[in-house]
Amino acid sequence: MPSKYMIHTKTVPNRFKTVSKSGIIAWEEGCLKCAVCVKKMCVYDVYDKRGLDSRHMIESIDNLCMNCYRCVQNCPKELIHKSLNPEFNAMGDSHWSPSIIVRLWSQSQTGKIPVSGAGYPGPFSGPGFDSMWTDMSEIVRPTRDGIHGREYISTAVDLGKTPEHLMFNGSDTLEGNAPSIIDIPLPIILKVPSFGTISANTIKGWAMGARHLGTLIALPIEKVNYALEDMGECLMPLVLSKGTAPGNIPENAKIIEIPWTEGCQGIVEDIKGYFPNLFVSIRIPMAEGMEEKALSLARGGVSIIHLEGNSMSRFMDDTTRNLKDGIRSVHMKLIEENIRDGITLLASGGLAMAEHVAKAIICGADTVFVDFPILIALECRMCRRCIKGLPCPVEIDTASPQWVASRVVNLIGAWHNQLLEVMGAMGIRDARRLRGEVGRAMFFEDMDRTTFESMGKIEEGCKLE
Ligand code: SF4
Ligand code: SF4
Repeated sequence: MPSKYMIHTKTVPNRFKTVSKSGIIAWEEGCLKCAVCVKKMCVYDVYDKRGLDSRHMIESIDNLCMNCYRCVQNCPKELIHKSLNPEFNAMGDSHWSPSIIVRLWSQSQTGKIPVSGAGYPGPFSGPGFDSMWTDMSEIVRPTRDGIHGREYISTAVDLGKTPEHLMFNGSDTLEGNAPSIIDIPLPIILKVPSFGTISANTIKGWAMGARHLGTLIALPIEKVNYALEDMGECLMPLVLSKGTAPGNIPENAKIIEIPWTEGCQGIVEDIKGYFPNLFVSIRIPMAEGMEEKALSLARGGVSIIHLEGNSMSRFMDDTTRNLKDGIRSVHMKLIEENIRDGITLLASGGLAMAEHVAKAIICGADTVFVDFPILIALECRMCRRCIKGLPCPVEIDTASPQWVASRVVNLIGAWHNQLLEVMGAMGIRDARRLRGEVGRAMFFEDMDRTTFESMGKIEEGCKLE
């Protein structure tokens, strides 16, 4: 059994004051001066930690409160109210919502799995990954002593073509060459996001984080500089096909990526001529016709394909279609053509939570890219001021590489633990076995169709009797 992969985390303080969801307004007028005030019973000691005098009217917007509403509900005179912070509501967008941003901040700061104080407040179902539920039937029989206990759950995955079978000779040694694959300990590759106030130090910090985690970081080749010289083995340069000259590729790099173009397989062969051991991933935009492109590449011997959705987890050419459906569609096409096991499928685009990693793998991806969460780990508010050339409110470019690396390690450490929790609850002990396990998940669209399709459609304007 391989040695146990663990990501050790420790609290890494924020550099700036975070934006909290709400504030507390407590009125003194009418106070009954209860012997045991609800403010004293806050399970998080928020009132004491604030250092404010609880006998007076308090208006406080900070991030100590966990929004459990216990004090609001229990004050006998209803003198305590919560007010929403407009700055909080203004963050991000419909996909990178304020609550997702705040949860990513917390995981990057503490390295811990976020715990909601008041149960699940969200809708029953929603678009994209929210219409998918994982089978948690094994939660009644969890691993003997927790996710880091004796029962090993492996999150390791392979990039490249695994052999259909192995041959051994009479002396029990492998015949032929050992399979050529890149082995990473978790199904996550970091990726430099498409915007952000990103400096050379930021990239160096992300690369240090990737190296610490044992994974890779994908980045445009022009961002590879001398500061990354000794980190070639954890870099995955994204190159433009035409600019792929041997001198551009960092020493020790194991893998590069080129975009799909007509005839890109010829370019892969040219690159292999210079670097026989280099893996080449081909990036296909998640759009109409991607299944045929993936199939043609797989048949042509390409071993790694990256399906790229947009930053909102949608198709590039159709924002009504979701990333999860694109991954499923390509995965199923390759299975139908009996070629799925000859290829590694990478997926990217708007993965914002740890559960999205597990769900993307269940839909058929082997490994995913994580991009904006590693920017949000650095306190990004997704305000997009940097796109307009305005200063970054949290000065991300001034953060030291060590701080950047520690925040990313914390974030991925928290995600890794959540992946272990999901796999443990599903009774799956190996991330490679999770791939395509749709039998262990439920999809709202499928259930809706099988339940209601036979009832026909309600036409617009029709009157129900
Ligand atoms: S809402 Fe809950 S966590 Fe927040 S101050 Fe009141 S009791 Fe404490
Ligand atoms: S906080 Fe705003 S300006 Fe700074 S990197 Fe994030 S989106 Fe860009």
